[in-house]
Amino acid sequence: MLAAAGSSAAAKTPLAPPNNQSADAKEPTVAKKKLGFAVVGLGKLAMEEVMPAFQSCTYAECVALVSGHPAKAKRVAAAYGISPDAIYGYDDYDKLKANAKVEAVYIILPNSMHADHTVKALQAGKHVLCEKPMATSIAECERMIAAAKTAKKQLAIAYRLQYEPHHLRAIEICKKQELGALKLIEATNCQDTQAPNIRLSKTLGGGPLGDVGIYCINAARYLTGEEPVEVTGFIQQPTSDPRFAEVPESVSFQLRFPSGVIMNGSCSFGSGDSRLLRVTTAKGYLHMDNAFAYRGIELRMRKPGKAGDVVEPGIEAVDHFTAELDGVAKALLDNKPVKTPGADGLADMKVIKAIEEAAASGKVVKL
Ligand code: NDP
Repeated sequence: MLAAAGSSAAAKTPLAPPNNQSADAKEPTVAKKKLGFAVVGLGKLAMEEVMPAFQSCTYAECVALVSGHPAKAKRVAAAYGISPDAIYGYDDYDKLKANAKVEAVYIILPNSMHADHTVKALQAGKHVLCEKPMATSIAECERMIAAAKTAKKQLAIAYRLQYEPHHLRAIEICKKQELGALKLIEATNCQDTQAPNIRLSKTLGGGPLGDVGIYCINAARYLTGEEPVEVTGFIQQPTSDPRFAEVPESVSFQLRFPSGVIMNGSCSFGSGDSRLLRVTTAKGYLHMDNAFAYRGIELRMRKPGKAGDVVEPGIEAVDHFTAELDGVAKALLDNKPVKTPGADGLADMKVIKAIEEAAASGKVVKL
């Protein structure tokens, strides 16, 4: 005789779904309407990450392209089913205004071109999502914010990690003080940047602080929920390497926050890839490898009373750009404030300028 195994509760669970339906099948979210974006600048980020990301968006779609290279733009438009009539150059950028399908403009140009193209798009009555760093100066950031206010349109900065689940969980842990009060933050974002590259040109607004160091600054601000009050900085610009004729190779900086948290940040264009974020707290720490990379982020923690690190379970990896585009588009469709507004970009720019001032003067700069 075969014995019935398991508890009576287990025995009552049917093996096949009783109504021929999976118990955990998720129904897709289908938006009533997607927000139409024009992508401005078809460079590496736009073509390798952003255009593919639109394919998986629920709330955003790309309906127009702006490029200085019409043949490339035509190929990209054909690949993504965008009308050839919705391809523009920088000379006829103003024509975007007449395209009612374009409700928002995503600026993915060299940093020195962010401010002018953002302001023009806002004046044309479009919302703007602008890549980081928002601009190259505090004055430019303020001009962009003022233009959004005048146009009654929203300006979002493309801080993709504020839409990314590992970073969102880290923010929650810090906010709720799940590992105790925050004490120290270490953040480093380094890469080996080879010429030619917009990042190595001063005229185009390059440099490691605005390009990669900004992730460390932004993270320290969103993890603490505070603005720094004191800043130090060191800049290394070797004369021996022609790549760094116009911009620094490495920048190291410290930020002191009102609660007493001290952040050590560093960034480089002359090193191997290194992207780490670590928050030391009163009772442990949280640690992120590949913290600022597009893929492969891992969040682990040392919890009070535990000997080893534990990887935070249940966080699904997402496409950062899909998450960001959907996050921004959903807010705009719902007429709600975007999560990463121009004010966030301006706050980072103030810190960047303070670090540069501290490095130049050799003094602590108060904010
Ligand atoms: P690329 O150099 O690859 O692309 C820039 C594009 O801008 C060019 O391909 C070109 O497009 C257009 N452009 C217009 N005028 C100029 C000019 N004078 N010189 C150079 N390019 C020009 O840069 P990326 O795509 O790597 O970076 C673009 C922006 O995106 C930057 O602000 C950068 O900081 C940001 N970025 C953000 C990332 C993130 O994770 N959020 C990651 C990488 C970059 P066209 O030929 O179509 O005119």
